[in-house]
Amino acid sequence: MSLPSILENQIKSGDIHHAYIFEGPLTADKEKVARSFAMALLCRVEPGTGCGSCATCRKIKDGNHLDVNLLRAEPSKYSKVLSVRDEAVDQMIERLKVKPSEGDRNIAIICDGDTMTPRAANRLLKTLEEPPVGTVIVILSENMNNLPDTIRSRCQHIRIISESNPDGKYTEKARKVVELLAGYNNYSSIKKEIDKIESTKEEAFVFLDSMEDAYREELLKISSSIKRDQIFKAVSEIEIARNKIKRNINVKYTLKSMVLAIGG
Ligand SMILES: [Zn+2]
Repeated sequence: MSLPSILENQIKSGDIHHAYIFEGPLTADKEKVARSFAMALLCRVEPGTGCGSCATCRKIKDGNHLDVNLLRAEPSKYSKVLSVRDEAVDQMIERLKVKPSEGDRNIAIICDGDTMTPRAANRLLKTLEEPPVGTVIVILSENMNNLPDTIRSRCQHIRIISESNPDGKYTEKARKVVELLAGYNNYSSIKKEIDKIESTKEEAFVFLDSMEDAYREELLKISSSIKRDQIFKAVSEIEIARNKIKRNINVKYTLKSMVLAIGG
């Protein structure tokens, strides 16, 4: 798979940062991008891009390359709530202090980075402040506002887009809904737009990502007709809607109550 162009350019110029946050919605395969990045950095057959089929690339794909540490949220002995375990972060930090055994870099990929405890984040921060030479740490996050400021400020932020929405299936519709909401249009015209979206979870996530992108575009405009407060409120309502849909609450009902909350 192709990497975001900003990463490709950094690899070409040799200007690799030691820490990144790959931020993107649930529907964006951030882990796949992180693995491709690791291949591009470690593959010797096609350095800079990764051949995808040599021993190094295959090990990275299968998750058993000794120099690529992958951390994931897990349940604990005491709780079923999934989170990146403190012990796992401690082990990873120790591992990064040891020389790489196969290539010339140690890479750590922290999936579900949003779920790190404050203690784990704090330990990680020390490593981000003084990273061992050649180390690359990639934190995957659905919403980087869930990570402490101190971590965010030490990582380069890369936005990962959803592959299920490559040609912006809902981009126009989302922009229209955002415009209608900003213009205080009556609810029935917005409801009509929502009714045209398929009621599956996957479609809803793609639509919500497009809504968030539409609001982020407004933030970047020099003068937007939407107030910043309103944009932040909308983005947080979109996040609430995502969480409801993840908990299997009815898609259409959730989308409609979201637009009411944003407009209200
Ligand atoms: Zn390779």
